Amino acid sequence: MTTPDISFEFFPPQSLEASFRLWDTVQTLAPLAPRFVSVTYGAGGTTRDLTREAVATLHNSSGLNVAAHLTCVNATKAETLAIADQFAEAGVREIVALRGDPPKGAAGFEPHPDGYANSVELIAALAERDQFSIRVGAYPDRHPEATSARADVDWLKRKLDAGADEALTQFFFEADTFLRFRDDCAKAGIDTSRITPGILPIENWKGARNFAKRCGTTIPAWIDDAFDKAIRDGREDLLATALCTELCSDLMDNGVDKLHFYTLNRPELTRDVCFALGITPDVSLENVA
Ligand code: FAD
Repeated sequence: MTTPDISFEFFPPQSLEASFRLWDTVQTLAPLAPRFVSVTYGAGGTTRDLTREAVATLHNSSGLNVAAHLTCVNATKAETLAIADQFAEAGVREIVALRGDPPKGAAGFEPHPDGYANSVELIAALAERDQFSIRVGAYPDRHPEATSARADVDWLKRKLDAGADEALTQFFFEADTFLRFRDDCAKAGIDTSRITPGILPIENWKGARNFAKRCGTTIPAWIDDAFDKAIRDGREDLLATALCTELCSDLMDNGVDKLHFYTLNRPELTRDVCFALGITPDVSLENVA
C-alpha cells in the first residue's frame, strides 16, 4: 500500500510554555516529511501578530514548507492584503484563505465596511497578486451557515474557480461523510484530487465533542458510546489511535492520497496514527549511528 502525503495544522503559541510545546510538536512531526504545515489565525483575527511571528519563525528555522492562514474578519481589504504581503516578505508563499469565524460573542459574520464580504472576494484578490498558492476550507458535514449540502459544494466550486488551488476539509468522524461529499463535488464538476480530508486525532473526547457541535459536525452515537466505555476503562488514547487510524485507512482504501491532520499542537497521537499508516521518519543513512 502506498503511503499518503501528509500535512499538519498548528496554532500560534500564546505563552512561553505553549511556544515550547509547539516546538516539541514540530520536532516530533517534522521527520515524517509533511508536504506543508499550516498555522491558524485566531477567530476574529485575534492572533494576527502571533500568527505572523510563528509563520516566519517556522519558515526560517524548521526547514518545513509553511502555509499561513488568513481571514478577512475585522479588517479592511488594505489591512488584509498588507498581512499577505508580510507573509510574502517573510518568504511564505502559501496561504489558507478563509472568511473566518466571528469573534467570540458575535452573532454572526459581519463584513468590515471596507473589508472583503466573503471568502470568494478574498481568494480572488490573493489570486490576482499571483504570488501565492491558495488553499481554502471545505465542509463535508454541512457548514452551519449553508442553506443545504449542495450550497456548500456550489460555494466550494466558486472558491476554486476564483483561484484556489486546493481545499482542506473540516474534520468529520466517518469516512462515508467525506466520500459522499467527494462524490457530490465530482458531480458538480470539481476536480476532487484537489480536496484533502482534514483529520482530527481525538486527544480529548469532551473537547472534540464540543468543538464538533460548534462546527455542525455530525457526532455518530456509536462514537459517543465507544468513548464513554473507553474513558470508564482508562483506554481513551488506545481508542482514539485505533479510530483515527481506521478512518484514515478507509479513506486511503477509497483512493485518498493526501491527509491533513489537526494536531492541536499535541504531536503524539498524530505521530502514532502516521506510524500505523506506514508513514515513517525520513532519516538519512548518514544520521543513523
Ligand atoms: P466559506 O466557505 O466562505 O463559507 C462557509 C459556508 O457558508 C459555505 O460553504 C457556504 O455554504 C456558506 N456561505 C458563506 N458565505 C456565503 C455567500 N456569500 N453566499 C453563499 N453561501 C455562503 N477560522 C479562523 O478563524 N481561523 C483559522 O485559521 C481557520 N482555519 C480553518 C482551516 C480549515 C481547513 C477550515 C475548514 C476552517 C478553518 N477556520 C478557521 C474556520 C472557518 O473560518 C469557519 O468555518 C468560517 O465560518 C468559514 O470560513 P470559510 O472561508 O471556510 O467560509
